Amino acid sequence: MILSNFFLPLQKEAPKEAEIISHKLMLKAGLVDKSASGLYSWLPLGLKLLRNISEIIRNNLNQIGASELLMPILQNGALWSESGRLTAYGQEMLKTEDRHGRTLIFSPTNEEIITDIFRKYVKSYKTLPLNLYQIHWKFRDEIRPRFGVMRAREFLMQDAYSFDINQEAAALTYQKYYETYLKIFRDLGVTALPVKADNGAIGGDFSHEFHILANSGESAIYADADLLSNIAQGNYQFKQLKDYYAAADDMHDSKIAPQNLITKRGIEVGHIFNFGTKYSETLAALVTDKNGQKIAVNMGSYGIGVSRIVAALIESSHDEQGIIWPEEVAPFKIVINPLDQAESFTKAQEIYQQLQQHNIATLLDDSNRSPGEKFAAHDLIGIPYQIIIGKNSLKNNQIEIKQRKSGTKELISYNEVLEYFAK
Ligand code: ATP
Ligand code: MG
Repeated sequence: MILSNFFLPLQKEAPKEAEIISHKLMLKAGLVDKSASGLYSWLPLGLKLLRNISEIIRNNLNQIGASELLMPILQNGALWSESGRLTAYGQEMLKTEDRHGRTLIFSPTNEEIITDIFRKYVKSYKTLPLNLYQIHWKFRDEIRPRFGVMRAREFLMQDAYSFDINQEAAALTYQKYYETYLKIFRDLGVTALPVKADNGAIGGDFSHEFHILANSGESAIYADADLLSNIAQGNYQFKQLKDYYAAADDMHDSKIAPQNLITKRGIEVGHIFNFGTKYSETLAALVTDKNGQKIAVNMGSYGIGVSRIVAALIESSHDEQGIIWPEEVAPFKIVINPLDQAESFTKAQEIYQQLQQHNIATLLDDSNRSPGEKFAAHDLIGIPYQIIIGKNSLKNNQIEIKQRKSGTKELISYNEVLEYFAK
């Protein structure tokens, strides 16, 4: 992408209402634009983040055999009457009526509609297990939207739903999601800690929230230090991790907490949940089992806050100069910075073409801003590598590469550029 063709409205100052660093940086770096309380437009740079994060989630869910679909954002209110949640869900639900007086609901979550799809098409145990998911917008009329996209009213969520023949099979499915979610966060370049959450009726180890640790997090997290080190070492096995103590404030019990307890702040970025036959019974999602008996399927739901993750990543990875995107999700891998409009720029174009041909996401800064302004802008938007081309380096047929995260700079010769980035 050439900068002059790209809509990247950088701001010198963030508005006063932006309290936390991710909100400030998202506005300054031109990722989002606030339209109304809790409602944001995703500008081109921000949209790339949503896409990259979604793609990593997709790859992982497809690997466990989940099928992606897309449900309408406006849901049939009649289904919610049937489940009893039309009134029970509360004020976060936004309802409207169409011209015929029928109730429509802007999706806060999708258990009703997915159960309806299931009951229409699935009749036999032979189709199970079945896993369906979407990545789509949700609306919750939060009483106090805050911190930008962190607690918005409209937000992008990956929501998956599982269907199993019984609790035993559902437990295996649950484990699979637990482990897959840990892998997703690893692939996003961040560590998320699973903590026990309340799952009402079912009890047991069937509800976990995943938290990214950050000082600005809304939840207090209490966890066994060994759980953290296991996850840091890449051990994601449910059976080995499930008994470590880990709880957010609402579930914390200081009497049973272990000796080597760590206390931190966390941002909830995911939530997995098995709710048994709660919806399949009320909505009659029945299958025939091996003996020809009709039984209600066992269900679970699994959600990741895709848009919240953008903010959470910034909270956990930034410095004085701006955002530091993990390479895994960065909107561009490289930004090329020619320090003059003559020779350096010609060289910059050549390198840009080369990188484009190899599908390496690159931004070419063709603006005529001062070097200082450009350095500041590139640091702000957090692209992992900056290629700096100045007169001195040109003399020696060299370019400078600066790594955003470590700040280290190195000189390499032109013909090593591809090799350097292909790794
Ligand atoms: P919270 O406790 O933060 O209000 P929740 O428990 O109501 O979230 P879930 O129903 O578990 O949320 O939804 C799944 C995921 O969607 C959450 O883990 C979170 O990452 C994300 N999410 C929920 N509400 C919001 C919101 N208002 N803005 C952005 N993301 C959200
Ligand atoms: Mg939750």
